[in-house]
Amino acid sequence: MAHDQSDALNRRGLLFILSSPSGAGKTTISRMLLGADDAIELSVSATTRPARSGEIDGVDYHFVSDAKFDAMVEEDDFYEWAHVFGHRYGTPKGYIRRGLKEGRDFLFDIDWQGTQQLKQKDEQDVVTVFILPPTLEALRQRLEGRGTDSEDVIDRRMDRARAEISHWAEYDYVVINDDVDACFVKVREILHAERMKRTRQTGLIPFVRGLMG
Ligand code: 5GP
Repeated sequence: MAHDQSDALNRRGLLFILSSPSGAGKTTISRMLLGADDAIELSVSATTRPARSGEIDGVDYHFVSDAKFDAMVEEDDFYEWAHVFGHRYGTPKGYIRRGLKEGRDFLFDIDWQGTQQLKQKDEQDVVTVFILPPTLEALRQRLEGRGTDSEDVIDRRMDRARAEISHWAEYDYVVINDDVDACFVKVREILHAERMKRTRQTGLIPFVRGLMG
């Protein structure tokens, strides 16, 4: 198999953040990206919640005790953490930092608030992409198409979607998802281009040194 430049040279990984209002296709695009690209993996959170049946430690979450979670907070081992429904959840930092050094990328499927927190902790490694629906009508149709929610719930989800969309200008890239395959190609091109940034290509200095003799 031919190796391109990004395979040959050492590089620092990145934190690739996808945000969108629910129903705009973020989960689909995330799955497509994870399926198509071996160098990016989904960030796995730590939680004090007990595992549900079928969930695998280290895959769905890192399941940890309260004491272990306390210790991780104490050691500043979280990018961010929060209480949700009586349990604690957080994004562990040590594991990701080691991966970044090895040139692995991490995908985050999080909202604008989580994005802000990650950016505050690690601005230089973070790349943010916002996915917009082509119209609010299309978004509503996708929510209705799931067939799981009442009109009332859909109205509330639409309000939340408007609030999420209002943060579009805080993102590095914005892609309109009017066609999921075309949107995926654009998101993948963003990832590829960001990997080629000079500052991420840590192998360039020795490479150029060798080049110049
Ligand atoms: P569940 O227990 O159903 O897997 O997740 C419950 C909630 O926790 C979801 O809304 C999910 O977004 C949130 N959550 C999962 N991981 C994290 C994390 O690392 N940080 C924060 N702040 N919330 C998380």
